[in-house]
Amino acid sequence: MNINTRNIRGGLRTRLSLSIALVVLLTIAPVSLLANIIIGRQFERHVSEREAERAALIADTIGHQYNGNDAGLREWDLEFIHGAGMYALYDGYIVKVYDSGGAAVWDAENHDMTLCEHIMGDISARMAARRPGIGGGFAARAYPLTANGKTVGFVEISYYGPYFLSGEDFRFLDALNAALVSIGALATLAAVAAGWLLARRVASPVTKAAQMARRISGGDYAVRLEDGTKTREIRDLVESVNRLADALSEQERLRRRLTADVAHELRTPITAAASHLEAMIEGVWAPDAPALQSVYEEIGRLGTLAGDLESLARAESAGFSLQKTKLDMLAAARAAAAGLEIEARRKNIALTVGGEPSPVLADRDRIISVISNLLTNAIKYTPENGHISVTVRSRESVCELIVSDDGAGIPEKDLPLIFERFYRADVSRSRATGGSGVGLAIVKSVVAAHGGEVFAESEPGRGSKFTVSLPAAH
Ligand code: ADP
Repeated sequence: MNINTRNIRGGLRTRLSLSIALVVLLTIAPVSLLANIIIGRQFERHVSEREAERAALIADTIGHQYNGNDAGLREWDLEFIHGAGMYALYDGYIVKVYDSGGAAVWDAENHDMTLCEHIMGDISARMAARRPGIGGGFAARAYPLTANGKTVGFVEISYYGPYFLSGEDFRFLDALNAALVSIGALATLAAVAAGWLLARRVASPVTKAAQMARRISGGDYAVRLEDGTKTREIRDLVESVNRLADALSEQERLRRRLTADVAHELRTPITAAASHLEAMIEGVWAPDAPALQSVYEEIGRLGTLAGDLESLARAESAGFSLQKTKLDMLAAARAAAAGLEIEARRKNIALTVGGEPSPVLADRDRIISVISNLLTNAIKYTPENGHISVTVRSRESVCELIVSDDGAGIPEKDLPLIFERFYRADVSRSRATGGSGVGLAIVKSVVAAHGGEVFAESEPGRGSKFTVSLPAAH
């Protein structure tokens, strides 16, 4: 396993931050652009309308002064026209007033040619620089001047079209653009920051889990991760790594215990045999038949132990192969019980088998050995005149086999441990009955290999009940 934690953190943070920033950019950028275009267009249309209105207003104002002077001595109030014309000129409108005969009454260009050129040049240059695409230019429009239903002349007003923007207008548009760009930039920054923070929350437990997994792979099973996150997936990861550490630590404990147990199991008969032999060598015991018999029995115990270990190893080995056939669990129970009938009768124990035929897909020999194992235990731990019953029944998709006895029972503290290798609830009694404590471990392995499970219930002093459940065959 080679986990580069820096990469995980860096990768996750960068990716999350960039992803969020990208999403925000992809949303903000088109919105800003669209807002910019729409607002710009609306503004230009408004300006263009404003210009036309302004020109009409100028014409109107000039028309009014004529009307106002209709009854007076002068037809044209030149002072007024001059004022209005100059005022309009500063705003970019070049005004020329003609009378009905076509003679110029007032002409801004004639009046101040330099100022006119300066203002026109200014507007043209600004617009050409900022709006080169609109193909704008100065164009004259004529507005008739009427008084009392009579045409008295006309005003010609030139201004830059289709529209022109003043310096102030451009400043407004620039400020708008700047605001939109700032909003986009701020949102992107916020997104990167949020992504970074989010990634830190995600990456930190992931990094810790990776570090922990590394320590576990190095043999340090005591490490545990604190689950400080609310994210379900991360919590799952943390829990899984913690469970992995638990499982490995348990395996390690069992492995050590197995070695110690095997050594212990070997030592007892070896020590007994050795001490008997020593006594004979030293002449304390005569090497007669009973003495040799005791040594023989100890060696026999060693043989049994070796056999048990072998069966256990076989049952637990990865390549454990099962010769599965369809068989009736009730028939298997009857066969196993028949093999132990003599033993049960020796203790005057009533052994009954009952229930309904239940088909399972299983290895016949191994299933019979599982039942025999449970029955041997039941006979072993049930006093004379006791009762043992085997019941087989089908329940939905499982087949259950129950072996119950009214024997010694199993203390509550031992109950969860009896399926472990070499575990004996009552060591002295169990050893006296010849058990090495691997019988139930083998039962559990074989049942698990069939995809089933086995569990025990017991009331100390009143009896025990072992239930094996296997997937039913159809
Ligand atoms: P053993 O070879 O010692 O019987 P097992 O693995 O078969 O080993 O059983 C483990 C322990 O479980 C036994 O030592 C015994 O204490 C307890 N046990 C198993 N079956 C029964 C039973 N039917 N009644 C009481 N105790 C039992």
